[in-house]
Amino acid sequence: MKIDLRSDTVTMPTSAMLAAMMSAKVGDDVYGEDETVTALENKLSAVFNMEAGLFCPSGTMTNQIAIKCFTQPMDEVICDQTAHVYRYEGGGIAYHSMSSVRLLNGPRGILTAEMIASEINEDNIHFPNSSLVVLENTVNKGGGACYSLEQIAPIADLCKKRGLRLHLDGARIFNALTATGDSAASYGQYFDGISVCLSKGLGAPVGSVLLGSAETITRARKIRKAFGGGMRQAGFLAAAGIYALDHHVGRLAEDHAHATALATALSETDFVDSVMPVESNIVIFKVRAAYTAAGVISSLNDVGILCGATGPDTVRFVTHLNVTSAMTDHVIQQLKNLKPVNNS
Ligand SMILES: *Cc1c(COP(=O)(O)O)cnc(C)c1O
Repeated sequence: MKIDLRSDTVTMPTSAMLAAMMSAKVGDDVYGEDETVTALENKLSAVFNMEAGLFCPSGTMTNQIAIKCFTQPMDEVICDQTAHVYRYEGGGIAYHSMSSVRLLNGPRGILTAEMIASEINEDNIHFPNSSLVVLENTVNKGGGACYSLEQIAPIADLCKKRGLRLHLDGARIFNALTATGDSAASYGQYFDGISVCLSKGLGAPVGSVLLGSAETITRARKIRKAFGGGMRQAGFLAAAGIYALDHHVGRLAEDHAHATALATALSETDFVDSVMPVESNIVIFKVRAAYTAAGVISSLNDVGILCGATGPDTVRFVTHLNVTSAMTDHVIQQLKNLKPVNNS
């Protein structure tokens, strides 16, 4: 048995999801004629109380389109130093938007209005124009840390007052909503753009949706075309997204419970130094000085457990749709017996 804890992107579509995809009514979406794509865009924008949506091939593309919409060349984007948009999108902010990035250092990637306020540039010939703040919820590199709406509201307020746009990288927004109990419908009022990923914990094979005002999405649709992201009979993929929203949101709490159980088991081993507090479906732990992340990962691989390093001495487990309670119990059992190579 292989248990894949590397990422929640590894989920496979269920047979019911595949059936929904196979029976989708499709058309040419570049002509605006794919009713399933339109249904997904309308459904998700209604859920988040925003005007419009745009189905895109990846979360990276939704983020990069949003950043392009909300900046001009020579602007500056403010985000945490852990941000996916900065670290893991291939330098896309520089390449697509010709903007610089101001990196902040929030605890576990969580920013406050105070941290952001002091980094907004004054209007001065020397300074790039601060035009956009990007938040991530949950924070991937922060071990799945969550913003509550109470934390977001003052940031949105600051952005409004200082004339900046606010974008949310919501690759795991439904995990955040599950953890905080906040309502999706309350999100729309705070953000100019929201990226929602369907291919992570929600289990769709492909796709993310960018949400925004009707004006933003009209512009975003043009940028998507220029990025090569205009898709034709994409309704087969959008049907998976609709299925995921209808059937896989309610079960995310299970993933969080599995992550918590794994964290407890990890903290009881003798090779783990510390485990970041679990807030959602990500567990990041630090190995003791005598061990390395690579050594621990290789020992876990030997017993069929796949996971990844986030640094030389840190390892990440991600729980998802394809990690059952029985698999979680199995991993916990294996952790109890594991004897990674000790290099000291
Ligand atoms: C996975 C992820 C994305 C998008 O990734 P794609 O692989 O391009 O879909 C964006 N932001 C965060 C925080 C992510 O974890």
